[in-house]
Formats: sequence, structure tokens, C-alpha cells
Amino acid sequence: MRINIQLQCTECKRKNYATEKNKKNTTGRLEVKKYCPFDHKHTVHRETK
Ligand SMILES: [Zn+2]
Repeated sequence: MRINIQLQCTECKRKNYATEKNKKNTTGRLEVKKYCPFDHKHTVHRETK
């Protein structure tokens, strides 16, 4: 089962990315390093609803 999630920058708290995850494969909170256009660098983005 796939659910839609948003990825929030842990530094500026902005929601920069939308993605989906497979609940079966992904346990816990998703954390990805992505480029934040507001911080002008790569930051950790965390799953949020
Ligand atoms: Zn940011």
C-alpha cells in the first residue's frame, strides 16, 4: 500500500518535496538528503503529513 507524504526541510521547516512511500518496505520516518532551494544547500528532509 502506498501513501503520499511530504518531505519537510529540517532546517527551515519548509515542505519542498512530495513523494510517496510503500508502507510495507519503509518502517519509521523517512529521511532523505535533498537540495533545499531556500537554504541553497542539501539538507535532511523528513517525512511529514
Ligand atoms: Zn530548508
